[in-house]
Amino acid sequence: MQNINKRIRKDKIMSNIKDKLYRELELKIITGVEGINFDHRIFDHLDIGVKYQEEVHCLFELDHESHVGIQHPAGFYSPSGFAFPLKWDRRSQYSLIKENGVIYLAHKGQVIFPIQLPERPNYYGLKTSDGVRMNTLALYSGDQTLLVPYSNECAFKESGRDCKFCNINATSRTYGEVEGIGWKYPHQIGEAVAAAYREDGARHVTLTGGFVAERREVEYYLDVADSIRQYTGLDDFNGTACVGAPHDLSIIDKYKEAGYRTIATNIEIWDRNIFRAICPGKDIESGGWDHWVKTLEYEAEVFGRGKVRSNIVAGLEPKDSSLEGIEYLASKGVICFATSWNPNPGSALEGHRSPEPEWHFDLFKKIAAIYRRHGFTYDEIYDCYATPTTVIHDIYRIEDETLPIFREEAEAVEAV
Ligand code: SF4
Repeated sequence: MQNINKRIRKDKIMSNIKDKLYRELELKIITGVEGINFDHRIFDHLDIGVKYQEEVHCLFELDHESHVGIQHPAGFYSPSGFAFPLKWDRRSQYSLIKENGVIYLAHKGQVIFPIQLPERPNYYGLKTSDGVRMNTLALYSGDQTLLVPYSNECAFKESGRDCKFCNINATSRTYGEVEGIGWKYPHQIGEAVAAAYREDGARHVTLTGGFVAERREVEYYLDVADSIRQYTGLDDFNGTACVGAPHDLSIIDKYKEAGYRTIATNIEIWDRNIFRAICPGKDIESGGWDHWVKTLEYEAEVFGRGKVRSNIVAGLEPKDSSLEGIEYLASKGVICFATSWNPNPGSALEGHRSPEPEWHFDLFKKIAAIYRRHGFTYDEIYDCYATPTTVIHDIYRIEDETLPIFREEAEAVEAV
């Protein structure tokens, strides 16, 4: 009887914790869509870029306006350990405020909770043998993962066919020179990844960047894989090759042979007509929508079920269309994520608005349910995505009860 009571009490406590976590997660989505207002001076004396991890603009500016020369932290953690993006927006009703040396997330001036800044990884303070700062080579994206943006430009700029939501070329123009970011060489990447694996326990790396001609892309990816293996000493370094759809699909086999465990090709939009309008470069210069879908199917044949990832920019097409694509791709063994569309400064869609946060939250819950139905595990979604801090990852952590708070509460119940 005592055991039954204990179990009922534990179930009740766990259910309350989940409710609390989902409320916190909702705030992550709201502040991700609406941004957060703050006065840069609240970070004065906080050693951003020394003690705490700084934002580095290797790919996309996600703040709602540029801030050249003013350093922001890379993000922050909520009390339950969710990684929040920090997108500066002076119009937002959410803000960061500082009281007695503690920084809080607030809504219309009312404190919600204290935040924690991410500590700077050790390898961020190191340089390669040829003197390049490693924080410009491999971004630490949380939970032992790295994002290596080998280039900070996209070749579609030559023809003016950049994806309409993308600001990679604008970000490069705004920050590239100021922050010392440029093309990266394989040996530099190998050294930086090895340092992050050694110094900070990193265990996954995604190689990505703007669109480049396919022959140049594949040769480069193979050289980088060789270099990472050489410097880390690992045959399987748990890498994701994020690539464009090659005209010749047999190229996909080469990435697998080179040692990448997973592969990613971002479809961006499921509706083929909207794809055509939003992604003109992928449509005209890279085979078009049918070819991108065929590529993902072929990747699943080569790499295996649960080892291929795609992504949809959520909010540029009707929700049903995105879900239809995610369901279809899941049936082929492809894990297709969705990320809330952020009308990036410098993109063709700057000044537009993303759907309401509730729209996004509902979409993420439905995606997580699709993954569950198709049997995708947390390890699979961890291995194939560049940043394991998306809302979908968080939903898995809540439902699998793997956040530290579950263990702490379970121990407290057992102790009574
Ligand atoms: S292919 Fe599209 S999303 Fe990718 S970097 Fe180029 S413009 Fe941006």
